[in-house]
Amino acid sequence: MTTIKFFLYANLLVFLAACSPKPYQVAQKIQEEKVKEVVTKMDTNVAPVLVDSLGNSLVTSFIPTVNFSSRKPNFVIIHHTAQDSLAQTIRTFTLERTQVSAHYIVGRNGEVVQMLNDELRAWHAGNSKWGNNYDMNSASIGIELDNNGFEPFSDSQISSLLILLTKLKTTYNIPTPNFIGHSDIAPKRKPDPSILFPWKKLADNGFGLWYDIPNLPPPANFDVESALRIIGYDTRDLPAAIIAFKRHFVKLDLNPVMNEWDKCVLYNLYKKY
Ligand SMILES: [Zn+2]
Repeated sequence: MTTIKFFLYANLLVFLAACSPKPYQVAQKIQEEKVKEVVTKMDTNVAPVLVDSLGNSLVTSFIPTVNFSSRKPNFVIIHHTAQDSLAQTIRTFTLERTQVSAHYIVGRNGEVVQMLNDELRAWHAGNSKWGNNYDMNSASIGIELDNNGFEPFSDSQISSLLILLTKLKTTYNIPTPNFIGHSDIAPKRKPDPSILFPWKKLADNGFGLWYDIPNLPPPANFDVESALRIIGYDTRDLPAAIIAFKRHFVKLDLNPVMNEWDKCVLYNLYKKY
């Protein structure tokens, strides 16, 4: 093909894609193929290969049980996209090279886009930890909120989010404390959702915990690090964990220092976990 012909052909393809009634047909096809791969892998029931330290094979077999179902998500992780539009995030999640995805995106106008079946593993959490759970992608549903990271979250967006969370909580029986943010599970790396995210409103509706007012002052021997760790925070980088805690619950400043009020809030929450 000559360069000009190729150029015209490439332009025609772009034109056709833009005018297609199904603009995400390519992504749809790729997803279907990948789902097939996952299912095929599950269907291959063979005995496990187990070898001892001397290289001897153990006697193993595969005998099918008849009692099972698919695994269920047990956490919901909330993110902000840090992008400028819903379309931009959809594009990011339909390109293989980005290697990121989420189950849902909620637009500023309240539109909800699902991108992956709840029972498949999306790639939204990355390197993260909550309590002793080191693989949050396997355990959770990821929800992205279309938000640039500096603007307030619109009422329509939060109202749609609450409806979606209600459905997920009921369907999968997700415990109330297990609705948390990306920054909670990856405090060293991630600042989302931002300090403007209305966690109290979520907690008032049964998604995530919140503290009570007035608070009892913590005892003199109250240990901030242990309390954060018991709640679930990864405290290997304590200043990062403190900032994540304050971004979620205190919302007054993001200094890695716990003042008396911050400690009262933490103590109150710690007693609930
Ligand atoms: Zn995130």
